Amino acid sequence: MSEVVSNSKIIEVQPFGGYDQALSYGVPQSLINRIQIGCLVRISLGRRNTIGIVLSLSPKERPPVNKLKFITSLVQEQPVLNEELIRLARWMCTYYASSIDHVLEGMIPSAVKEGMGEKKKRYIHATKDSKTELVLAELKNSPQQKKLFSYLVKCGQEVALHETLKILDVGISSANALIKKKLATETNKVIERDAYEDEFSDSNDFVDQEFSLTKEQKKATDEIILALQKKTFQPHLLQGVTGSGKTEVYFQAMEKVLSDGGGVLFLVPEVALAPQTVSRLRGRFNKQNESVVVWHSHLSAGERLDAWSALTSGRSRIVVGARSAIFAPVQNLKLIIIDEEHEPSYKQEESPRYHGRDVGVYRAMLNQAMCLLGSATPSLETLHNVANKKYSRSTLSQRVDGRDLPLVHLIDMRKEAQREKNIPILSQPLVEALRQRYYNREQSILFLNRRGFNTTMLCPDCGNVEQCKDCSISMTFHRTDGQLRCHICGYRKPAPRFCPNCRSFDIIKKGHGTQRIEDITQSLLPRKAVIRRIDADMMSKKNLFRQTLDEFRKGKIDILVGTQMIAKGLDFPNVTLVGVIDADLPLRMEDFRASERAFQLLTQVSGRAGRGDRAGEVYVQTYAPHAPSIQFARKGDVEGFIVEEMEMREEFQYPPFRHLVRHVFRGRSEEKTSFYAEQWAKVLENNPIENVDIKGPAPAPLEKMKGYYRYHIFYLTNHVPKFLAQFRKRREKFPLDVEIHDILDVDAFQIS
Ligand code: ADP
Ligand code: ZN
Ligand code: ZN
Repeated sequence: MSEVVSNSKIIEVQPFGGYDQALSYGVPQSLINRIQIGCLVRISLGRRNTIGIVLSLSPKERPPVNKLKFITSLVQEQPVLNEELIRLARWMCTYYASSIDHVLEGMIPSAVKEGMGEKKKRYIHATKDSKTELVLAELKNSPQQKKLFSYLVKCGQEVALHETLKILDVGISSANALIKKKLATETNKVIERDAYEDEFSDSNDFVDQEFSLTKEQKKATDEIILALQKKTFQPHLLQGVTGSGKTEVYFQAMEKVLSDGGGVLFLVPEVALAPQTVSRLRGRFNKQNESVVVWHSHLSAGERLDAWSALTSGRSRIVVGARSAIFAPVQNLKLIIIDEEHEPSYKQEESPRYHGRDVGVYRAMLNQAMCLLGSATPSLETLHNVANKKYSRSTLSQRVDGRDLPLVHLIDMRKEAQREKNIPILSQPLVEALRQRYYNREQSILFLNRRGFNTTMLCPDCGNVEQCKDCSISMTFHRTDGQLRCHICGYRKPAPRFCPNCRSFDIIKKGHGTQRIEDITQSLLPRKAVIRRIDADMMSKKNLFRQTLDEFRKGKIDILVGTQMIAKGLDFPNVTLVGVIDADLPLRMEDFRASERAFQLLTQVSGRAGRGDRAGEVYVQTYAPHAPSIQFARKGDVEGFIVEEMEMREEFQYPPFRHLVRHVFRGRSEEKTSFYAEQWAKVLENNPIENVDIKGPAPAPLEKMKGYYRYHIFYLTNHVPKFLAQFRKRREKFPLDVEIHDILDVDAFQIS
């Protein structure tokens, strides 16, 4: 037995860069008092030198002396994560079955990890006094220093060092010499690179108006403030129809928290789509001398570092951003706001596969803070928590301007198809409405539901969609073998040649993109009408995207064509018509959330019309005018929809009644991939996990992705950590082929 190190300090360090386990390291005497949890340290690992983060000051095990390695150095004095965020990281590893490495990777900006300090700018200053003449005389042998010194004295105030050196054509060494001789003083000022400064501050149209709260806003605010005063963990849903003034309620809650010395984290689905929210935040809080940090994926490493240090130092107490901002190091965090909490973009579709909203709720718990979730169409998960009294709720049922929700017309596309003897993409009533708006100099939005990478059999005559007999979801048509398959359980059957419901031979598979809609619209409207398109490809070209939105806002575009992304949070007062080209598309996805999403999208889209002083109208083209999601959305009946959809979910024990864990196998060989998925299913059959329902294996909707075949299995469970523990025991013993990889997606959202 080797001797065990007893009296030197041993800590637990998690190395970065693909290492999924924390290791024990010794701390050299000189560093013992400086090492804290969350500090970055340099370590040697095998033959490499790398960086790691201190996760714990007491190791799980004490390695033998001869094996013990010592950390090489401390990267910087300040810890990069506090204990709260480390606890959050540990929880994410357990709950989402992801490696600590990936979780930490997402939490710490790379610039911070690389150990850069924050970007500081040097200023220099020298004052004129009785000794000045003497000094100048002494400097006669160093003309450069003399030149700089006399310039500084002449200026009499602080000047930027590098700019000054450039003007005078003097080297940095002269400046350093003056400083060393105490002839000049140096100051360092942190400069924050604010990517959104110019993009958001120009919006004068969003000056914060003073208004008194509506009765409902007042009531909601009072309820929230009362809850905040308890200073305990409290998830709270603010359910308010579009245009009911939820933002103002958020602001009231923020002001309360800030006045009590707390910090605020404000999450939006996509920052580029929330320019109004950002300028409203700035408009409101800059006045109160609070700076608002914007945190989003387009930030450069340096910008992210600045944002990060503004928050850790406590200089800024408000951060607004998309999903990953949930990890922003806000000090004394007391309020987390998650706007449009139902949005799918809060779920990360790569490792770590976390849901920003759920991480937000957990983080609020760690901080004894409030998590305020807002939506017009809350997710069923959140509503389930309200029903179980885990979350409290306030409601805003009226728009602030007291106007009704826009009038929604359903266009039955089956009738249009009959009348026109083919399947029109834009129906006659919609085209008429577009023309009318154009002549009235009003604007329209045409909305197309993207997605649907697979085709489902849809009957144009009766709207029938082929469904799986066991899973209550649409089946998918596979061109390769002419079969219909269920992507949940794998059930298959030959594709029908005629509609099993009405016997029509016109069963079709169709698809059309935004580009095509744009062309068709142009051909049906006067030549001068300006039509533009916004779609997913544009998101990468940030400027083009912003420019298009800007032109639309200024009235230079008559009709904007886009995917669901334009349904979120934008508000354009001159838009009086919204056309929904294909309301059924989400219903055809092989996804039990299809109805919920169709409902949410329609409701959001309808909220875009008639926000100015003109009334709005919505035209919805549908092959399934009687589908509950469409009917309830038309009537603006959120409660009605929820009741019906909850019943369906309960019957099948789908989420929110149980958690859904998706297990995906992928590999280059289709045979091997499906073989191992089957083998694994057999393991679970022979050695079952308690309280879990298993569905599959079946091919994933995207059967082949980037050259990999994909098969998946679904687990429905009441308790994720218990399930994962049992799962792991079996999985560790399962000999998976090296060419096959498997991943787990806990609370899977997008089933692709
Ligand atoms: P929601 O987020 O609920 O869709 P918003 O917060 O965007 O609604 O508010 C819609 C509009 O109503 C905004 O332009 C906002 O400035 C305005 N507004 C909010 N509260 C009031 C109020 N009490 N009186 C007048 N206008 C208000
Ligand atoms: Zn099925
Ligand atoms: Zn039919």
